[in-house]
Amino acid sequence: MAKPKFQSPTGMHDILPQNQAYYEKIQNTAKEVVEFYDFGKIDTPVLEDYNLFIRSIGEGTDIVEKEMFTLKTKGKDFLALRPEGTAPIMRSYIENGFVSLPQPVRLWYFGPFFRYEKPQAGRFRQFNQFGIEIIGEDDAIIDAQTILIMYKFLQELGLKDLVVKVNSIGDDKCRPIYRKELLKYLRDKKTSLCADCQKRIKTNPLRVFDCKNEKCGQVLMGAPQSIDYLCEECKKHLKNVLEYLDELKIPYSLESKLVRGLDYYTRTVFEIESTREQDSPIALAGGGRYDNLSKALGGGEISSCGAAAGIERIIAEMKEVKSKLILHSIPDVFFAQIGPLAKKRSLPILEELRNAKIKVGESFGKDGLKAQLGKASRLGVKAVLILGQKEAINEMILIRNMKTSKQVEVKQEDIVIELKKILKEK
Ligand code: AMP
Repeated sequence: MAKPKFQSPTGMHDILPQNQAYYEKIQNTAKEVVEFYDFGKIDTPVLEDYNLFIRSIGEGTDIVEKEMFTLKTKGKDFLALRPEGTAPIMRSYIENGFVSLPQPVRLWYFGPFFRYEKPQAGRFRQFNQFGIEIIGEDDAIIDAQTILIMYKFLQELGLKDLVVKVNSIGDDKCRPIYRKELLKYLRDKKTSLCADCQKRIKTNPLRVFDCKNEKCGQVLMGAPQSIDYLCEECKKHLKNVLEYLDELKIPYSLESKLVRGLDYYTRTVFEIESTREQDSPIALAGGGRYDNLSKALGGGEISSCGAAAGIERIIAEMKEVKSKLILHSIPDVFFAQIGPLAKKRSLPILEELRNAKIKVGESFGKDGLKAQLGKASRLGVKAVLILGQKEAINEMILIRNMKTSKQVEVKQEDIVIELKKILKEK
């Protein structure tokens, strides 16, 4: 078949009807979990000031350097399609004076994000995330709760083999010391690193840990680890987070090379992976603490923690583990019509059934009774309504109980009452 003239943009996809049920199920599960923990939903614009991301995520990160979709408006504003949710939410928190509310403020979101990445399995240029932010609290219990919420959310979607990877990248006090040690190590090994990592030495050395290059991986085996440079407060914070996770019996591994190289992270960083495919674990969610973000955006000192989960990767996992999902709502009743007068009456009758909250299937395109009844039995409905020319003239209708195969003729005005009797039967 020839390629159609127009296709969706590279890395961006239609969400077709057969996949909508996954999005609904995921959003409803997310809502159920976060509402219990008293989160309020927030929607921010898909476009934000470009500089918001420069100030928060930081220069020298892949997102800012390579992955942002940007545009200049006619009014000369420089905007970017949001690559992530935390910076816009912190912007909104500051802009709307949420600091005067009882703290912490708990917010959640669900929606599309955009990164100009090389499209591949599980990596798109438009993808959806469910995310949570707990803003205004520095206690380690908040970090553990963030991890717990994401973990439970994934579990409740039927996903198994989940493991949490945790690390601490320290704070303003201890991270510079670690950074210096790491730089010293990387400079010594510079010639063995890939071109990208050589650049990262100058811009964002922690980011070298995200490199997939095998040679770099070998060099990094001997690199200093952030955990060995934590100050007393950061050490205590990490210890507390891990103790909470132990208490919750959440399986985790301490991952010294996990750095999540965005500038705004401090102390705890984590990812939740599916280890179903042992050789290539899939990151389903990630997050961490960001105690410096508010200040970077012109707000006060506000300690916070958050996380985001990738919806498309979750759907792929749900399909792999065949998580139970009713993809289509099954109608209660099927409506069959024969002849032009019956066809004309069919729409108002369907409306009456919709008002009575009775789900109806139909097949208006197929006029033959046999084809229509064939569809009815495939759907597994409890009753079929049959409206022929004679019934249409007499304002009557036939109702066939599919379980007993009994058929009765009733007045059209009694359809709802009669159907409800059948639908009540076990
Ligand atoms: P991040 O904001 O990079 O921490 O990502 C959080 C989660 O979003 C990841 O664990 C993935 O599940 C998902 N994700 C991130 N980037 C993409 C992408 N380009 N395409 C699809 N999912 C993504």
